Amino acid sequence: MRARTPQAVGAVLALLATLGPGGGADAQVIRAGPKACRGVALTFDMCPVRGGGGYDAALVASLVAERTPATFFLSGRWMATHDEEVRALLAAPFFEVGTHGQAHAHLPQLDAAAQRAEIEGPIVRLRTTYGRETVLFRPPYGEYDETTVDLAARLGLRFILWNAVSGDPDPSLSAEAIVRHLSEVVRPGGIIVFHANGKGRHTREVVEALRADLLARRGLEPMTVTDLLDRCGEGRTHGDHH
Ligand SMILES: [Zn+2]
Repeated sequence: MRARTPQAVGAVLALLATLGPGGGADAQVIRAGPKACRGVALTFDMCPVRGGGGYDAALVASLVAERTPATFFLSGRWMATHDEEVRALLAAPFFEVGTHGQAHAHLPQLDAAAQRAEIEGPIVRLRTTYGRETVLFRPPYGEYDETTVDLAARLGLRFILWNAVSGDPDPSLSAEAIVRHLSEVVRPGGIIVFHANGKGRHTREVVEALRADLLARRGLEPMTVTDLLDRCGEGRTHGDHH
């Protein structure tokens, strides 16, 4: 039995998002776009992997075939062993990339200098090797403290977390279970976290089912994080403000 309406749950979540550790610093942490936005951001973390391919080529091919906007958060260590794949992601005009730490460190365990090095590693690599700038940053494990938030602000980064967890690396979850869960928790303006480094078990199936379901049933279009935050909702429609 559900006592709460989805609206009430959303209000509670929004309230919780404004509280939590860090107080004022936490206000800079972005977990979703505007509720008025008829879009969702599909985001894919590229955490480092030991052995194996480290790249979900079938998933990326499916996104490319459907020209589905998506945002990839690249760790420096992953980039170091996936040059061709980085170039493929950068080549698709409907994809955008952010960064996800150098070595996937637990940032709150590091001092400020080490945090800064961890945050800047993949930003510098993107700039020097690929000529690409990005301000989107997602801390490894979603872990941060006030130093992390402060550093990100001083580096001009947008601190992107999520408000919907796919759980795609969990071997106990079926594709159907993930789709059912996400269909329930995803709201307009939502940001969903997946993996495209080969650690997601059913990510491609889930994304394909979700894309069809969200679009057909709720009119929610996949969009990049930047479009979700800057060009959608709050009385705007995407296409405006160019
Ligand atoms: Zn990660």
